[in-house]
Amino acid sequence: MKVLVADDDDTFRSLVIELLTEAGYEVAAEINGRLAWERLQAEGADIAVLDINMPEMDGFELLRRIRTDDRFKDMPALMLTIRAFADDQVHGYDTGADDYLTKPFNTEIFLARIKVLERRILKKQ
Ligand SMILES: [Mg+2]
Repeated sequence: MKVLVADDDDTFRSLVIELLTEAGYEVAAEINGRLAWERLQAEGADIAVLDINMPEMDGFELLRRIRTDDRFKDMPALMLTIRAFADDQVHGYDTGADDYLTKPFNTEIFLARIKVLERRILKKQ
């Protein structure tokens, strides 16, 4: 199970990589949406964990591209952001986010949410 991670914040990106790796996931992490999109096209992924505020291409635009690409449109996506405002969350769900977590987050809750998304994939197989 491979997780695409896009976050420009070094601290959070490192934390997410560490949590996912320790939980047994393969991780492909990038520092902005553009690089993450290129990486996804090159090697694919099963789940996306996307920060919203990123340089070059933000998480909303990356998610929009994922949802309009036949190969990735059903990929579960968890949005990660420091912006706790309701309109961001609504925009996230409108764009096709499956879940939403505000930083800083509880690490156990983060992994529990990832497992929920993973179960959804496994059910379809
Ligand atoms: Mg950011």
